[in-house]
Amino acid sequence: MSDTVLFDRVALIGLGLIGSSLAWALKRDGLVGHIAGTARSAATRSKAVELGFIDSAHETALEAVADADIVVICAPVGACAAIAEEMAPGLKKGAIVTDVGSVKMAVIRDVGPHLPEGVHLVPGHPVAGTENSGPESGFPELFEGRYCIVTPAPGAHEAAVNKVVEMWTKVGSNVELMDAVHHDRVLAITSHLPHLIAYSIVGTASDLEEHLQRESVQNGDLIRTSEVIKFSAGGFRDFTRIAASDPVMWRDVFLNNKEAVLEVLGRFTEDLTALQRAIRWGEGDILESLFERTRDIRRGVIEMKQAGSFSAVEPGQEDGSDPDPKS
Ligand code: NAP
Repeated sequence: MSDTVLFDRVALIGLGLIGSSLAWALKRDGLVGHIAGTARSAATRSKAVELGFIDSAHETALEAVADADIVVICAPVGACAAIAEEMAPGLKKGAIVTDVGSVKMAVIRDVGPHLPEGVHLVPGHPVAGTENSGPESGFPELFEGRYCIVTPAPGAHEAAVNKVVEMWTKVGSNVELMDAVHHDRVLAITSHLPHLIAYSIVGTASDLEEHLQRESVQNGDLIRTSEVIKFSAGGFRDFTRIAASDPVMWRDVFLNNKEAVLEVLGRFTEDLTALQRAIRWGEGDILESLFERTRDIRRGVIEMKQAGSFSAVEPGQEDGSDPDPKS
C-alpha cells in the first residue's frame, strides 16, 4: 500500500449521488486501490462502470463486499437492513462497515445485529448533497468544506473509527463525532423539518394551482399560464428545489426518524400558530423581532461557510449560492 492509499479495496453499496461522489473523491486523491460497487439495477451498475467511478460491478452486495477493507452503504436508509443481512456472510474479518444515511439510530438498529464478530460498524453521515440523484449526479468536490458526522457507539473499535474519520477528512470534510441519538435530533430540525415544509408548501401550491391560472387569448388561442410557476422567484422557487429531492430517500428519512421529526414538528406547529395569531392581531413587533433574530441566524450560517450550495445551477443562480439545507 502506498502512503496515500487508505484502503486497498472499497465496496460501495449504492451508486447514486453520494456513492458516486465518494468514489470520485477517493479516486481523485489516490486513496483507494480498487472500488467494487453494486446497485439495485443493472442500468445503474453499468452506468457506474461506463463513467469510470467503480472498477468492478457486482450483481449482489454479497459479491461486492468480498475481500473489502471497508464497505460504505450509500443506499436509502430503508434498504440498510436487507443489505446488511445479504452481505454479512461475505464480510472479511477486520472489515469496517460504514454508511452515509441521513438517519443514524435506524441504521445502527438495522445493520448492527447482522454483522459478524470482528467486523466494525462505524456509522457516518456527510451533511452534503444536492437535489439530484443517480450515478451521473456525483462529483468529487461534494464533500469539500462540509461537515461529516460520525456516530460510533461507545466502545467502538478505535482504529476503525480513526480510519473512517481519516477517509472523510481526506475527501475534504470537517468531521464531528456525535452520539447517534443527538445526531437524529439535530438533523430533524436542521434538515428533515425544512424538507418536510418544502414538500408541504409545494404540495399546497400544486393543489391551489388550478385556481391560480391566468387566461389570455394569443393569436386566437386560449393560453393558461400558471402564476405559481411564473412568479416563483418570490421565494417559492427555493422550496421547489428542496422539494425536488429524491422521494424514496426522503420517505425513508421520515419513516426512520419518526420520533425526532414529530417532536420538532409539534414545536414548529405551535410557533406557526403564534405567527398566525400575530398577523391576525396586527402584532408587528412580534413579527419584526422574530425576523431580526432569523436574519442573525443566516449571518451565522454564512460565517460558518455553510451557506454555499453545489445544487444544480439554475438560471439566475449561477454562483450556486442558494442556501441548501441538505441532509
Ligand atoms: P440516490 O442517488 O438515489 O442513490 C441511491 C443508490 O442506492 C442507487 O444506486 C440505488 O440503486 C441504490 N440502492 C437502492 N436500494 C438498494 C438496495 N437494496 N441494494 C443496493 N443498492 C440499492 O441516493 P443518494 O442521494 O446517493 O442517497 C444515498 C444515501 O445517502 C441515503 O441513505 C441518504 O439518506 C444519504 N444522504 C443523501 C444526501 C443527499 O442530499 N442526497 C445527503 C447526505 C446523505 P438504483 O440506482 O439501481 O436504484
